[in-house]
Amino acid sequence: MLDIPVFGTSEFRSKQFRLNEKFLFWIKVDKENFSSAAKIGYRDHLKLNEYDQMEKDFLKFKFFPLYELSGILKKTWIRPMLLSKIIFNAFSTLLKSNPEYIEETLPENILKEYNLISRKDAILRINFPIELSDTETARKRLSFEELFYLEIILALKKKSIQNEKKGITFNKDIKELTEKFKSIIPFELTSAQKKVMNEIYTDMRSDKCMNRLLQGDVGSGKTIVAVYSMLIAIENGYQAALMCPTELLAEQHYKSISEFVKSLNIKVTLLVGGQKKKLRNEILYDIKEGKSNIIIGTHALIQEKVEFKNLGFAVIDEQHKFGVMQRAKLKEKGFNPDVLVMTATPIPRTLSMTYYGDLDVSVIDELPKNRIPIKTALRVENDKPKIYNFIKEEIKKGRQVYIIFPLIDESEKLDLKSAEENYVILKDNIFPEMNVGMVHGRMFWYEKDEVTEEFRKGKINILVSTTVIEVGIDIPNATVMVIEEAQRFGLSQLHQLRGRVGRGADQSYCILIAKNLDDVAMKRLSILCETTDGFKIAETDMEIRGPGEFFGIRQSGILNFSCTDLNKDKDVLETARKIAFKIIEEDPQLRKPEYSVIKKAFMKNYKDSLYLMEIA
Ligand code: ADP
Ligand code: MG
Repeated sequence: MLDIPVFGTSEFRSKQFRLNEKFLFWIKVDKENFSSAAKIGYRDHLKLNEYDQMEKDFLKFKFFPLYELSGILKKTWIRPMLLSKIIFNAFSTLLKSNPEYIEETLPENILKEYNLISRKDAILRINFPIELSDTETARKRLSFEELFYLEIILALKKKSIQNEKKGITFNKDIKELTEKFKSIIPFELTSAQKKVMNEIYTDMRSDKCMNRLLQGDVGSGKTIVAVYSMLIAIENGYQAALMCPTELLAEQHYKSISEFVKSLNIKVTLLVGGQKKKLRNEILYDIKEGKSNIIIGTHALIQEKVEFKNLGFAVIDEQHKFGVMQRAKLKEKGFNPDVLVMTATPIPRTLSMTYYGDLDVSVIDELPKNRIPIKTALRVENDKPKIYNFIKEEIKKGRQVYIIFPLIDESEKLDLKSAEENYVILKDNIFPEMNVGMVHGRMFWYEKDEVTEEFRKGKINILVSTTVIEVGIDIPNATVMVIEEAQRFGLSQLHQLRGRVGRGADQSYCILIAKNLDDVAMKRLSILCETTDGFKIAETDMEIRGPGEFFGIRQSGILNFSCTDLNKDKDVLETARKIAFKIIEEDPQLRKPEYSVIKKAFMKNYKDSLYLMEIA
């Protein structure tokens, strides 16, 4: 028995606890000093009522659940132990009046085969475990359910896309454009590029509506694949569109793609915000009348005013930078066009099975042969003089350099100010004899483009930048990437930034400068020094930051699991996906009697999610 002085001798306490009454206490005990009353911290208590049978049942459990409070429930309103008792009472009352209240949502045979407990048991045991291991057994079962229904939704969505809306059949055998294009590409395609081109071609020739994700690490050459696919659409009489996340990238693509198709008699058009009204009207007219064949732009492409004559093929570059709604909006601009979404953020398999689960996936798993792996080093502030000397030497060799400052959110004024101040110091004090330029997200796109063009032409030696150059920019002569305050970036983002160098045949370098380098940051950043494999980096990034954060898709609601931890439950996901897809393949209407459980649970709990996914 504990001594009462733990609680002091306050008037209040002595009125609260009277002689001959029984209480259950929640206390925090210091393991080292178990016997010393002074080390015992009071958390909460429950006054016991010996006539309350339900309470007696409750107290038989070895473990007492404590709930996180959410919504309007505050600690000051309801004490945690009382809440636990109320929840237990609610369960008992409900189940007494209707033992089947917690309905099963998975078929018998699946439960048996995968050794899962019933839903009722899972919900009871996760709240009131008999053994501590019960919570994990229960969580696994509930996680299985979450993932299973997510995959059922994805399988249904995929099925409905395949069945209901027939896509365009791009089967005219003209091949004039594509063959000619292949002959003018100034380099040899990698076998991975050829492979994915074939996959796309096969899809486009069939009447199935293509929804394909093209994954390929930075610099793997996705653009050329996109151009080739767009040409297939064009030689079949359709328009093709390419949507990019930034104006800078749209402009760059516009220039390089115009150059690629120069001899093919194709009209390439750029549509971005901020174009002069007269020009814009001309552009809109060209798109509507079908005078433009390839239309490249930002989200300006999906505005209401933009009408296409016959959009047959839509490409979305750097898909991970877009919200989930935008893919659908671009698609709506045409009559069920084929869609190719591209991303350089290698997506861990667990994520591509969930977030992109309805897409077919093509992977470019090979870099062009002329590439030399980028050398990456981790440095600290004190190393800067050495780094600056190194930069000077590289510039003497004719190379160019990026210096990146962290402006994670382009609206962050303080960061912008510091980036600008640093730019002035670099320009005036450190590299007075060099040409130093700067781009940041707050500049107008044509200003950014002007500076970027100067850099491309070699007139600028050092480009100081925020993360606006993260995606897509392709300037092969740039061989040094210095990233300031590298510890503030996510690993995948650093990998993307690093991908701006190593694009030509010269040795490239990436120097990460870290401030306040603790062990965790050290471990994180070292991974970049060890590998240039985007998949490995993405896996680690996801483990460290969690899937929602990793992808910036927390708001989408799709990955808001309550019992699943994608890092832990990879196997569960694989299994759930396999079964769900098999079931929907076999019986998409879920008519078989053994699937009635699934149908019922789906209609009750998940129908709305299908709708949500439909518009995604
Ligand atoms: P990403 O996949 O990152 O979008 P890009 O399409 O921008 O990559 O290609 C990167 C660079 O590599 C470009 O300059 C492109 O012209 C070039 N490239 C693409 N394919 C090949 C190849 N097979 N051989 C050599 N260079 C290539
Ligand atoms: Mg690209």
